[in-house]
Amino acid sequence: MTTQATAPSREVDEATWEMAHGRLVETLRDLIRIRSVNPPPPDAPDGELIAARHIAGLLREAGLEPDIVEPVPGRGSVHVRLRGDGTGGEPFLLLSHLDVVPAPPGRWTHDPFAADLIDGYVYGRGAVDMKGMVALELGVIQLLTEQARASGLDPARDPIPGLRRDLLFTCTADEEAGGTAGARWIVDQRPDWLRAAGAVNECGGVTMTVAGRRLYPIQVAEKGYAAYRITVRGTWGHGSMPRPDNAAVLAAEVVARLAPPEPRRLTPVMARFLEMAATAMPPPTAAILRGIASVDPARASRAEAALTAACDPMYARALGALLRDTISPDVIHAGIKYNVIPGDAVVEVDCRILPGTTEPQMRATLVDRIGPDLAAVCEIELFVFGPPVEAPADGALFDLLVSTIVEHDPEAIPLPAMVPFATDAKHTQRLGVPTYGFSPLMLDPEERFLERFHGVDERVSVDALRWGLPVLYDVVRRFCG
Ligand SMILES: [Zn+2]
Repeated sequence: MTTQATAPSREVDEATWEMAHGRLVETLRDLIRIRSVNPPPPDAPDGELIAARHIAGLLREAGLEPDIVEPVPGRGSVHVRLRGDGTGGEPFLLLSHLDVVPAPPGRWTHDPFAADLIDGYVYGRGAVDMKGMVALELGVIQLLTEQARASGLDPARDPIPGLRRDLLFTCTADEEAGGTAGARWIVDQRPDWLRAAGAVNECGGVTMTVAGRRLYPIQVAEKGYAAYRITVRGTWGHGSMPRPDNAAVLAAEVVARLAPPEPRRLTPVMARFLEMAATAMPPPTAAILRGIASVDPARASRAEAALTAACDPMYARALGALLRDTISPDVIHAGIKYNVIPGDAVVEVDCRILPGTTEPQMRATLVDRIGPDLAAVCEIELFVFGPPVEAPADGALFDLLVSTIVEHDPEAIPLPAMVPFATDAKHTQRLGVPTYGFSPLMLDPEERFLERFHGVDERVSVDALRWGLPVLYDVVRRFCG
């Protein structure tokens, strides 16, 4: 826990917070209206660059001198550095991405790029993933630069009052497709945009209400991914004379063998998550969570089934994915015509690997699951890979995230967590930057936050943002102060 008695945010007056909140909501809505879709569609090929330029404009209005890079035409990332007085060590990084996944409007009740504000919610693609956090980060920077200017300083050159280390803001393109045209390029070509003592990024620090308790998982780890293309060889022939080595039939058998879940493997982060969550829960839920952490596989399986029945299946599915390496066969291609037996077929599988599992181990698991008879007619090719990520679940920055959350929500139960998907943290990890998922939002108990990611009717409540801005401000002020 921090020893500081007063949150820095309490030194900002109410009128300023109200102004900052209103500005943040409008920033978010403007960003949602920029169709920074990845992969870039033909009618909006440079959405990321437009978004980067829009953000650069806001930063210039704040008196800063931002930089944009465009490693691929139309794919822009934006960065700015606020100076500290240099006595506080390495910088602190506010990381975010400005691309969004596509949003086929069919099942949306709101235009995904209109940024409707209805009943206290901003609707639109990117509301939670992750233009809301971009707006929070910009909101903190705008407050800091206004304080500097009020002191007669030039925020582009002078140290910001109270900052002992530099504050970096880096908003990347291409996160949703692996970061080749974004964070990965920046690590290689502009590492100073990312090199820091620590970073906050998307996903964590968001309320998850379970059994009436408000948990705030702070993302310290994320699973890696390995996508494989399995080419299955059969024999071409005439559809009138079926044959057992029809490649479509063999591919179906490959999929059937890969579909059942892998055995559980409890990583240290998940063991701590389950124990801390159990401690906070009423007895029946606590017993289930401790059962899941049990070393007895039969007891753990029963507990996993009980969790699915006891809580929102969305949480049970997410937890299940965090307890094992997963294999999801997501693409099957075979055949050219109804009366031609296909001689080859392709199956693409999305494997998500826990910290501690290597790519060769994952491949060996696939071969083992497919079995020697079918493996003999399969070629397995890795075509996408991102490593698992882990940051320390202790130390000054993590402790500060925990204490700041509790200060702003005294009933909060923060706990270190892993997420089943990947973020730009896999790139900052290459520079040794501990990167935490921490985009503070206090959500209503019934808000289905996880399903908003890449989902239909993605939205964020303005009250959640109202709570998050001073939280992030305090984290920045304290870690840099
Ligand atoms: Zn994201």
